[in-house]
Amino acid sequence: MPGLVVNPRARIFHGHDWVYASEIKKTFGDPQPGAVISLKDFRDRPLGSAIYNPKSQIVARRFSRRRQELDTDFFTRRIERALAHRRTLDLAPPGHRRLVWSESDGLPGVIIDQYGEDIVLQTNTLAMDQRRNSIVEAIENTLQPRTIVERNDSAIRTPEGLETRQGILRGPAPEVSTANLGGFFQIVNVLGGQKTGVYLDQWDNYHHVAALAKDRRTLDCFTNSGGFALACSAAGAREVTAIDSSEPCLEIARQNAVLGAMEIKWINANVFDHLKDAASGETAYDLVILDPPSFTRRKGSLKDALRGYKEIHLRALKILEMGGILATFSCSHHVNHETFMNVIRDAAVDAKRQLRLVATFSQRSDHPVLATLPETEYLRGFAFETIGAW
Ligand code: SAH
Repeated sequence: MPGLVVNPRARIFHGHDWVYASEIKKTFGDPQPGAVISLKDFRDRPLGSAIYNPKSQIVARRFSRRRQELDTDFFTRRIERALAHRRTLDLAPPGHRRLVWSESDGLPGVIIDQYGEDIVLQTNTLAMDQRRNSIVEAIENTLQPRTIVERNDSAIRTPEGLETRQGILRGPAPEVSTANLGGFFQIVNVLGGQKTGVYLDQWDNYHHVAALAKDRRTLDCFTNSGGFALACSAAGAREVTAIDSSEPCLEIARQNAVLGAMEIKWINANVFDHLKDAASGETAYDLVILDPPSFTRRKGSLKDALRGYKEIHLRALKILEMGGILATFSCSHHVNHETFMNVIRDAAVDAKRQLRLVATFSQRSDHPVLATLPETEYLRGFAFETIGAW
């Protein structure tokens, strides 16, 4: 089997599964893009099997410590393992979940979401994309779904040199369905929506934040299809306003609100501009939620991203009443706990507020974190109560 000899100081010797271009000592046997390769240390000892893409910054991703082919049997076994793990989780509602999450389930680049009888597949690495048919067979063997849809339209495919695609792979056209999240509803449109219209990783956090919302004038920034706004409304918020810059997202949010007979004020605006205007006016809130998109995918643009993060925190604090709550999220793994906390600290100093931590949040448990792959931990959140500086 062709493969790579890895540098002695590479992260793979610390339990990681990725090999970056800078960590390669030698290539042997002329591996082809998308091939399964063998990884070796400098003494020629095997480190396992990996998928190979010389175009990507992450040249190799190990998926097994043994010699292993990527065939339908292998995919079936990995999906069964993912299923066994999900059965141990207490997810609500149980029919909507991330079943396979890439490296965290031993399938680098493969994402499988279940929405009742419908499956949404992403194959975001070259090797997995090439083996899409075997993965589809394995899904049919293990799950017997009604429909399998591919949503390979994410920008994260670009660094792998993959084009974007979406469509039906098996079965009839998926139906638009409704998920009951307990007191509020979300329309799930697996093929028609921008993304799928749902952020499964936040589903538990809707309830955690809503638990703080009773009687509060609430502002949900970056609402997308309304998750936090709807949850807060259901939990007895005094009034709820929600902002997003995407009209198609707000359209789904409005329909979600109708399903729950909720009155929410939807604003199509840029959050930066809106908060600035609100801060110069009289508008005040008792709960502000910030759930922006990942401002950075690359480490290089982290500095700009942090400036953006600080800016929205400062503006949010300015429209928050004393005693109000700021619930804030970051979904970039480059922004670790300390970095995120520092941004909030800086904003609090500028806003002359003291912030008391009342809750911390993370990604839902169907997006498991691996200790040796820190990149798998990407969603962080805090809720702070604003108190006057002593
Ligand atoms: N809170 C949402 C997910 C947010 S995703 C949920 O739980 O479902 C980020 C959202 O931010 C997207 O819907 C995107 O349209 C919106 N967005 C991105 N930049 C924005 C900006 N500058 N102003 C307002 N909305 C923005």
